[in-house]
Amino acid sequence: MSSHTLRRPAELVDAGLAPSEQLVALERVAERYAVAITPAMAALIDAADPHDPIARQFVPDPAELDVRPGEAADPIGDEAHSPVEGLVHRYPDRLLLKLVSVCAVYCRFCFRREMIGPGKPNALSEELFAAALAYIAAHREIWEVILSGGDPLVLSPRRLAAVMKRLGAIEHVRIVRVHTRVPAVDPGRVTPALVRALKGSGKTSYVVLHANHPRELTCAARAACARIIDAGVPMLAQSVLLKGVNDDADTLGALMRAFVECRIKPYYLHHLDRAPGTAHFRTTMAHGQELMRALHTRYSGLCQPAYVIDRAGEGKVPVG
Ligand code: SF4
Repeated sequence: MSSHTLRRPAELVDAGLAPSEQLVALERVAERYAVAITPAMAALIDAADPHDPIARQFVPDPAELDVRPGEAADPIGDEAHSPVEGLVHRYPDRLLLKLVSVCAVYCRFCFRREMIGPGKPNALSEELFAAALAYIAAHREIWEVILSGGDPLVLSPRRLAAVMKRLGAIEHVRIVRVHTRVPAVDPGRVTPALVRALKGSGKTSYVVLHANHPRELTCAARAACARIIDAGVPMLAQSVLLKGVNDDADTLGALMRAFVECRIKPYYLHHLDRAPGTAHFRTTMAHGQELMRALHTRYSGLCQPAYVIDRAGEGKVPVG
């Protein structure tokens, strides 16, 4: 098992995670879209299975070079709602603060794939952060701030605590929500100091875990989530409906049950956004609706996420 995050296609070939005959094509993919597979995720991959659902999410695929009509760099239209760099203010009472543009892993289907990765500006400068805070402070209707990115839990506990403290100082901000994949893909990062930082705003914090396959909820991931929840920070989950990963009722049901067993409430199941080079992950909406019906019939009410599609100009639309 690798002890470091795999970032180069040659490393993936050496680790047996990609065939050597694809190396040239994978180098081309990696030039365009960032690659990172943490040791925890590399260890989960069954290299003997050509359809492994963990590999499919993180190991680059030459199919990513196939950009289809209708796919766009900013598929959900974030840019149109960005009053200040680093902010997306689409709905009156809540806003997205993009603190970093790097992640612990890079998902091959990410809707922000053109904007994230080590080659992109990797953190909001102090000046831009101050401008973002000034905007939030000036808009009293903002009740909730959602920290996103990139993945905000790649920040050091010290930096995260400082961000939380400054958000907490804005009186009308009552909720700080953190969107992350870290507790599952790099559970060792969820240290007591990071958990304390999550509570550093003095307001109510929520952590929303992104995971797409039940195998991602390993013992270490479950323990990391328990550290967060035991500290009094509730957790929700969001998943993306992905062909070849979770587009069957048994897998999706097992994923929702795994969340609920971890005291994590399933929140959203996203229909895949039309990011460039992601056609091989796409399912039809009719299939998604059929899966939602199966979830309703076969699984507890606790296991039901809202199935949504993000439409530029309209925001999240329930389609379940
Ligand atoms: S962790 Fe989130 S932002 Fe980062 S690559 Fe995956 S989906 Fe995109």
